[in-house]
Amino acid sequence: MKQKDFCIEKKVENLLEYFGENTERDGLKETPARVIRMYGELLSGYSENPKKHFKLFDSNGYHDLVTVSNIDFYSLCEHHMIPFFGKVHIGYIPNGKVLGLSKFARIVEVFTRRLQTQENITHQIAEAIEENMHPQGLAVVVEAEHLCVSMRGIKKKGFITTTSVFKNKLKTDSFLITQFYRDIDNYLLNKKI
Ligand SMILES: [Zn+2]
Repeated sequence: MKQKDFCIEKKVENLLEYFGENTERDGLKETPARVIRMYGELLSGYSENPKKHFKLFDSNGYHDLVTVSNIDFYSLCEHHMIPFFGKVHIGYIPNGKVLGLSKFARIVEVFTRRLQTQENITHQIAEAIEENMHPQGLAVVVEAEHLCVSMRGIKKKGFITTTSVFKNKLKTDSFLITQFYRDIDNYLLNKKI
């Protein structure tokens, strides 16, 4: 493992040298090791199985909308390895079972701490909830700013991309959809003020 770590650090060093850096200078001596540790943290989702976070409780007869809004996330785009970050909002109609609220944040972390696209994150969070909870309705909305749009390419700041998945009752019942949007309204990043 040590040997492997050393090899990977060497690759970061090569990258820095490729762009003209002197990797011997003081400020950069520890940088390759730090970069590897940092990516270890930012990409820790690969070693996590979302299933372990689905510890369900009886809903005790509650089968109305549950909305968990404003879950922060940071991810890396799979095309450039540059961060994109924002909020996830989840709504579901229990099917006899509910999930501890903090677990939604855990599930978001499993899928965002990987090289990703926003579309995939939205889809994967929805699939995991669908598979493990079989809710009667489900909505997952992800809003994010992508640094690969703000700091490179067309360099547009404040660009917010929204992706969403709606299933079952939260796709067909307009009362529930309106209720969901009312619940998350205060937290919407792209809200026009
Ligand atoms: Zn990108």
